[in-house]
Amino acid sequence: MLNIVLFGPPGSGKGTQSEKLIEKYGLIHLSTGDILREEIAKLTHLGKKAKEYLDCGELVPDKDIVNMVANQLDKEKSSSGFIFDGFPRTCAQAKFLRNMLTERETRVDIMIALQVKEEELIKRLLKRGKETGRPDDELSIIRNRIEVYERQTSAVIGFYKKMHKYAPVNGLGTIEKIFENIVDVVEKALLPPFSV
Ligand code: AMP
Repeated sequence: MLNIVLFGPPGSGKGTQSEKLIEKYGLIHLSTGDILREEIAKLTHLGKKAKEYLDCGELVPDKDIVNMVANQLDKEKSSSGFIFDGFPRTCAQAKFLRNMLTERETRVDIMIALQVKEEELIKRLLKRGKETGRPDDELSIIRNRIEVYERQTSAVIGFYKKMHKYAPVNGLGTIEKIFENIVDVVEKALLPPFSV
C-alpha cells in the first residue's frame, strides 16, 4: 500500500498533482473538499451544515470530517493506497488518520507539502473562480482560507516532521516539473530503509 498526504495552502496545486499521481500509481483520491461539495450538491444533512463553513472559508468541525473519512476508507478496503488531498487540516485530524491507518496495518508513507507564495495563490484561485464558478474562490473568502491555513492547518507540518515524513516541494513552475519533483520524493520514500 502507498499512502500519500498531499498538503499545501489553497491554490497550491493539490488537485492537479493528485490527478497525475493517481494515473501513475493507481491510487484512490480522497479529497475531503470534493466529498463536502458532493454532500452540498445532494443537500444532505452534512452538506447543509458544511455549506455554512465552506461559504466563509472556515474549517468544517473535525468530528464531521473524521466520520466522513472513516466511511471512505471503509468503502475502499481493497485499494492499493490513497492520496489524501486537503486532509488532514488539523493535528486532531492527523492523529485520527494515524490511528485509522494503524488499525488497518498501514501508514502514511510521505507528506508532500507544496510551497507557493501568497500572491501566486490568490492569482491562481481568482482565475479558477472565473473559470469554474467555485463560490469560495472569491477574494475575501480566499484571504480567509489562506489565513485559516496559516492559523490552523500549517501546524500539521510539525506532526509529520516529527515522524520524518515531511517533504517540501516547490509548487512553482510547470505542472510537469512539479510532478517530476513529487515523483522523486515518492520514489525515495518507497526505498527500503538504509538503502540511501
Ligand atoms: P478544498 O477543496 O480542499 O479547498 O476545501 C474547500 C473547503 O472545504 C475548505 O475551505 C473547508 O471549508 C472545507 N474542508 C475541506 N477539507 C477539510 C478538512 N480536512 N477539514 C475541515 N474542513 C475542510
